[in-house]
Amino acid sequence: MSTAAVTGVCPECETDLTLPPLIEGETLTCPECMLTLRVEAIENSRLTLQMVEVQLRDWGQ
Ligand SMILES: [Zn+2]
Repeated sequence: MSTAAVTGVCPECETDLTLPPLIEGETLTCPECMLTLRVEAIENSRLTLQMVEVQLRDWGQ
């Protein structure tokens, strides 16, 4: 029986993460640095993770 786990590296703290199957665009929280990460791409069970920038809509208008 094989579980289709995927792996990725946190771009912030460079922790190796092993995760249950995710889909592109899904978000997760890094257990080390608690940053919110988004799945940008999945290739051969390797995730490309990107920090989710918190959009501060402070335009002063
Ligand atoms: Zn991290």
